[in-house]
Amino acid sequence: MRILLVEDDKALGEGIRTALKPEGYTVDWVQDGSSALHALSEESFELAVLDLGLPRMDGLQVLKRLRAAANPVPVLVLTARDSTADRIAGLDAGADDYLVKPFAVAELKARLRALLRRSFNRPQPLLEYRGISLDLVSQAVSFRGQTVNLQRKEFLLLHELLAQPGRVLTRDKLQQALYGWDEEVESNALEVHVHHLRKKFFPELIRTVRGVGYLVDKV
Ligand code: CA
Repeated sequence: MRILLVEDDKALGEGIRTALKPEGYTVDWVQDGSSALHALSEESFELAVLDLGLPRMDGLQVLKRLRAAANPVPVLVLTARDSTADRIAGLDAGADDYLVKPFAVAELKARLRALLRRSFNRPQPLLEYRGISLDLVSQAVSFRGQTVNLQRKEFLLLHELLAQPGRVLTRDKLQQALYGWDEEVESNALEVHVHHLRKKFFPELIRTVRGVGYLVDKV
């Protein structure tokens, strides 16, 4: 699950990033509005956490432009003041939810989970593929009814692949989904995760496309 965090307050941004990592999110963090718009337009995220007061383009502008371009990414807005006008402006511009600073991290996490549930449009979003079942909110995984324990990266990789069966995903795209921008990627890390997934499920689950990337077949 990849999140774009847009926050120019360094301490708060660091705090949010640290708090979300153990939840199984890959968090990419930008600190101004124009970088946020660029990132959201060029890459895919499951969620965005967007501060309103930002340098180089405020959060409301980012949101308006995003929605004008028909980008549906669920957005949780962070507002500095509990002003009704700010909240209404945010929601009108296309925010899905908002949180007033200061907030408890536990509440942020709960709201993000709720947003994810809503964005998958089902109370218990499940991704199912050839006997494999992925619960996208609780991150529980099973195969033919048996629980399968996956590491975080394995879950992220499996999710990327199963969400787009029949489509070849390039190594770059997969590495980005797994590691975000600022994590060091070991050169064969992707191969190792693929190997583990084939072992934990079945060998022909993931096909290698030489020189390009990987895919799972359409059923
Ligand atoms: Ca700010």
